[in-house]
Amino acid sequence: MADYDVIVAGGGLAGTVTAQAVAHCSNQNTKILVVDRNAKSLPGRKSLAGWVCGDACSKEAVDFMTSRIKVKWGRPEIEHDVKGVMAFSPDRETSIPFDGDGYMLNRQKLPEIQNKRCEEMGVEFDYEINLTGLIYEGHQAVGVQGIDNKNKQPFKKTARIVIDATGVTSMLRNTLKNSTKIERRIDRRDLESTGRYIMYFDSAKNDPAEFDPDYCIIHLDQDIAPGGYGWVFPKAGNKVNIGLGVEKSLLERRNQRLGKKDNVESLMREYLQRNTVIKNTRLSEDPEDIGNNTGIFQVSVRRQNDCMVSGGYVLVGDSAWMPKPIDAGGIGPALIAGTILGNNVAQALEANDVSEAGLWQYNLDFIEEYGYKTAGLELFRRLVQQMTNDQISYGMKHFLGNMDVEAISKGEHPDFSGLGKLGMIIRGAMNKTVADGLRYTSRENRWLVDHYNKYPGDPSGFDEWSKTLHRRMDGAFEKVDAFGR
Ligand SMILES: Cc1cc2nc3c(=O)[nH]c(=O)nc-3n(C[C@H](O)[C@H](O)[C@H](O)COP(=O)(O)OP(=O)(O)OC[C@H]3O[C@@H](n4cnc5c(N)ncnc54)[C@H](O)[C@@H]3O)c2cc1C
Repeated sequence: MADYDVIVAGGGLAGTVTAQAVAHCSNQNTKILVVDRNAKSLPGRKSLAGWVCGDACSKEAVDFMTSRIKVKWGRPEIEHDVKGVMAFSPDRETSIPFDGDGYMLNRQKLPEIQNKRCEEMGVEFDYEINLTGLIYEGHQAVGVQGIDNKNKQPFKKTARIVIDATGVTSMLRNTLKNSTKIERRIDRRDLESTGRYIMYFDSAKNDPAEFDPDYCIIHLDQDIAPGGYGWVFPKAGNKVNIGLGVEKSLLERRNQRLGKKDNVESLMREYLQRNTVIKNTRLSEDPEDIGNNTGIFQVSVRRQNDCMVSGGYVLVGDSAWMPKPIDAGGIGPALIAGTILGNNVAQALEANDVSEAGLWQYNLDFIEEYGYKTAGLELFRRLVQQMTNDQISYGMKHFLGNMDVEAISKGEHPDFSGLGKLGMIIRGAMNKTVADGLRYTSRENRWLVDHYNKYPGDPSGFDEWSKTLHRRMDGAFEKVDAFGR
């Protein structure tokens, strides 16, 4: 008999939400263990750099979790309320709102509260365990192994299902042996290197394009944050989470173009200095920000793993590459996926079928709720990354109709229907290229959403589905890259 019904590997945001969802959805005798490499006093810390995140999350995703698994978030894990995210064009002449009402979280306080709540639901924890891989019996994953840093002894525990929530660098996924369907590695270009400060400041003036206590601000700019964006997210009237993300190969290209040698750290410093509102800055020394007021980490910006289950094994959160491809928001999808997965795991345990086929429904449920749109957004992201500042500014000003803004605000791919309108004059060959690119990605997006709606109902249809997807995506990436040449 297994030591546990469920082992959640990684007690970060996705892991602890999923543990609560499993406890909520399954019967009281279900034994759940959460294992993390952090000490008990540092729950949910992503890496030595801290709980590095922009800390923003939509109310809609929190409501999704609360209504289904009855977990409520309040103060102090929510630090500040916002009315949405505002994305500014490089020339700052156009801004588009998205995501709607949301919260700024305290990522250090949140896991403390999550863990307490988990424990009240009967979930057990083991800390200071560095997991290195899964234990297998034939084709089935039956537990986890690693080193217990408390006593330097090997650690082995068995479970009917292992949920991998160990984040983007997941060792369990990288070394996975029981699936040909789950992808193990990521393309370097699908990874953003990101960093941020949490600080107090004095306001030098009022300018809602630089700091707005009610809105999370995003600055698109290929010189300031090549292949990514800069952000200014309010934590109070005089407190901010400010940072940026870049794609490394595009940073190199930008450095060559400008004759510079910048890295993420120097770009962060410059971005802070050029802000005309945020002055006299001090890194936050609030007790809940100590050890977390500056740091750099990675985030993926692609579609979720094409398959997220194998025998006895499931992926959730950053280990499954869930952050949204256009803005790297990973908290929302982690809440949605964790909530859904609680139900899938409970059903598989009850049916006593924890095989790949028994867990397959999770792939379908996540795609239906969220995952149907991510491949299209991945392609859209690749196109925007190829554009110059002038092209982005022109495109945002002239090509985004009301319907497109609405689609973006719901996290959907805009369809740029206005681009086909008679009488639309597009000035300049470079801007015609942008229009062609946008028309192309919206057409491809329709195909991709349709393809995801045909995700196979069981593992037998996966290879064909996946081959078709990769053929289409590879062709589309080539085409989109050509727009930037
Ligand atoms: C700079 C930056 C800014 C971001 N901004 C935002 C934002 O504003 N909004 C948003 O929605 N998303 C944002 N994201 C993404 C968001 O932070 C992640 O999507 C989210 O934290 C994912 O949670 P997770 O639980 O899947 O992974 P993680 O938070 O990485 O948690 C993984 C857990 O697993 C543990 N672990 C890892 N490896 C092992 C191992 N081998 N053995 C044992 N335990 C292990 C870790 O200790 C950790 O507790 C940002 C990311 C970055 C890097």
